Amino acid sequence: MALSTLTRTDPATGEVIGEYPIAGPEEVGTALTAARAAASWWAALPPDGRKARLLAWKRTIARRAEELAALIRAETGKPLDDAGLEVMLAVEHLDWAARNARRVLRPRRVRSGLLAADQRGVLAYRPLGVVGVIGPWNYPVYTPLGSVSYALAAGNAVVFKPSEYTPGVGIWLAERFAEAVGEPVLQVVTGDGGTGAALVRGGVDKIAFTGSTATAKRVMAACAPTLTPIVVEAGGKDAMIVTADADLDAAAAAAVFGGMGNAGQTCAGVERVYVERPVFEPFVAKVRERATALAAGTDYGPMTMPGQADVVARHVEDAVLRGGTPVVGGPDAVRERYVDPVVVTGVPEDSVAVTEETFGPLLVVNPVEDVDDAVRRTNASALGLAASVFTGDTGRGAAIAARLRTGAASVNSVLGFAAIPALPFGGVGDSGFGRIHGADGLREFSRASSITVQRFRAPVDLMRFDRSPKAVATAWRMFRLRHGR
Ligand code: NDP
Repeated sequence: MALSTLTRTDPATGEVIGEYPIAGPEEVGTALTAARAAASWWAALPPDGRKARLLAWKRTIARRAEELAALIRAETGKPLDDAGLEVMLAVEHLDWAARNARRVLRPRRVRSGLLAADQRGVLAYRPLGVVGVIGPWNYPVYTPLGSVSYALAAGNAVVFKPSEYTPGVGIWLAERFAEAVGEPVLQVVTGDGGTGAALVRGGVDKIAFTGSTATAKRVMAACAPTLTPIVVEAGGKDAMIVTADADLDAAAAAAVFGGMGNAGQTCAGVERVYVERPVFEPFVAKVRERATALAAGTDYGPMTMPGQADVVARHVEDAVLRGGTPVVGGPDAVRERYVDPVVVTGVPEDSVAVTEETFGPLLVVNPVEDVDDAVRRTNASALGLAASVFTGDTGRGAAIAARLRTGAASVNSVLGFAAIPALPFGGVGDSGFGRIHGADGLREFSRASSITVQRFRAPVDLMRFDRSPKAVATAWRMFRLRHGR
């Protein structure tokens, strides 16, 4: 029976750009079987063997980066330069994961302690087997590779289900992997939500899910019957805090870029800005000037997923209906395919424009009394992915960042953490749990294996039925000496 297919169109023009199979349980099962067979070979390679192959894959991606960027542009509609930047960031992470897996995951001795002085303790991190990666469309290379690269570097095979909006990018990455490595360690299955669901139920050793909080809950429920572990990278409602002594030009430029870049379709983009009251008006004036100069369709692309424009419209309407002041754009900013920049000030904190992820080019800018007020409002969100702080004193900025209930924060920049592969990435609350990137990202796709080896027979061995009362008394004496003083 012929597989049903999904038709991909360029979101900027509506032109058909590809037709892809919708894999069902059977096709997903075939990919999993192939990946399972390849996983044993991959895991048995010495770490340097995996590193060499991953770096070969990296080189093929880097050499053909423009081709990949053009594919991202066609499938998501984002400007070519943004697509190129995404490829550069993704390659940086792949390089780091390949080069650092051995160091992070190598077996190591741990201190045995007094009670087990006769034992040698060894901690190692071993591959899980086959990891199922489910990705979104907004950064269709950078985001899934944040899981794929680290899972592969940790010695796992991967079956990757790209978003139905970006299937071509997923296939391209797997083709380059096959050219560089030759074994089906990375498989791609295209399709829709049903394909993702088949992957979750197909018998993987872990799911790495990136997408909306609502889908994450469904995927997690589907993982429950088999206790399949999951790492969840979900949405955000990231806040920027601007203190009275901040460089307002830099803060406004960052707020507009963080809010409108990629048409606001960035999980860790800026959606709310809290500004200390003395500089609120001059800051808003700078934001207005910058946002007004932007053009949807030139500076950023269309809404990749058509339905997202309705969410943006609902949020703008609610913000304005409930007393917010539109200082740039307004409800009529939502056009077919594109949404023009919208900035609304003085929005009540219980408006959906503040409480829910908008995922569009809408910035809510509210005045705050002081930093405590800003921190309280930032932390009131159920979502806690990332944040930024703009301030004249970077030491104070770091202290403010440390008070935020988010997985990451940047001081005097936006998204600074995304470009540092050694920094783990992930959220709290409705933004998810677990970490990708960095050493934590490698360990996320490993299982800790603890092994002890007896070094000598202990004079006092308590783990036997024929232990003597004298041995027990000696143990008590040692215990009191060690812990009771
Ligand atoms: P969705 O939650 O709609 O989809 C995410 C992925 O899950 C897609 O591949 C989708 O397939 C798949 N899927 C849908 N239903 C199921 C199911 N029942 N079982 C298994 N898989 C399923 O998110 P979007 O693609 O719209 O991505 C945007 C969201 O991703 C935003 O909320 C954004 O904040 C978040 N995101 C988070 C990031 C992070 O690192 N924290 C990074 C980037 C984005 P299909 O598309 O084919 O329906």
